[in-house]
Amino acid sequence: MKDRLKILDVWVDPVTRETAIERATNFLRHGQRPHAIFASNPEKNFSVPADAELYRAYGEADLLIPDGVGMIWAAGFLYGAKLKRVPGSEFIFDLCRLAVQQDCGIFLYGADEEVNRRSAEILAERYPGLKVSGRANGYVKDVEMPGLIQQINESGARILFVGLGSPKQEKWYATHRDALTHVRIVQGIGGTFDTIAGKVNRAPEFWRQHNLEWLYRLLKDPRRIRRQKAIPIFMLKVLVEKAKRVLGIENSSLVRRFLRPNSPGKRTNRPL
Ligand code: UDP
Repeated sequence: MKDRLKILDVWVDPVTRETAIERATNFLRHGQRPHAIFASNPEKNFSVPADAELYRAYGEADLLIPDGVGMIWAAGFLYGAKLKRVPGSEFIFDLCRLAVQQDCGIFLYGADEEVNRRSAEILAERYPGLKVSGRANGYVKDVEMPGLIQQINESGARILFVGLGSPKQEKWYATHRDALTHVRIVQGIGGTFDTIAGKVNRAPEFWRQHNLEWLYRLLKDPRRIRRQKAIPIFMLKVLVEKAKRVLGIENSSLVRRFLRPNSPGKRTNRPL
């Protein structure tokens, strides 16, 4: 997208839920290759640039939806953009509706076998006419991967949901995208199959409305602190970025020296 906003070392697309659906419709109708839809959130700023292949695939993604509240804040603070959240865990349902409208099959890849199977059943029940062309749990071994790719291609599915958690699912896409012959949309959905199947509960409406879903998930599963400590560091970096712009010292060698980007040297294929 040409109006893609750069937030530190990653990006976000200034889309609404409606414009994101329009773009997905275009991918299905006119696309000739897989189109990646990934969630953009503060954690990505640290995981994505650490791997050159992942960084390239992420930068080349066709849609980076504003999934995290931190990204919304950063886009507003740095660019004055007024974005609203388009959570990946909800956008999957928009894509299911689209699949029915466009008569496209979906493939579910990720989570444990029981969760994967239940998700397929629940989605098929919830969206009459939805064609679940195939499914596979997320614990396929490397040696079995060519078989899975063949299964996805032969299923004829046009939409593939990959729920391996982040950044594992984006890495999977980076490695296998060229082998996907029929799929036109690949959405990285993290742990969404777990919430569809009821293994993990989403935050109640109050927390979601107040953009506090991250806090709810942290309170429910304190092990997430390892991941969520990225948020204050991200915010601090955004504040520094803004200060550099206001002071006009973005390219100062002194600033570059003391505020190095993440994992310097690992990014060999920097996109854009
Ligand atoms: N998972 C998987 N294969 C793996 C590792 C994880 O299918 O090798 C699944 C796991 O069962 C869970 C999801 O990936 O359903 C990760 O969920 P989490 O909430 O941690 O992901 P996030 O949304 O935070 O990226």
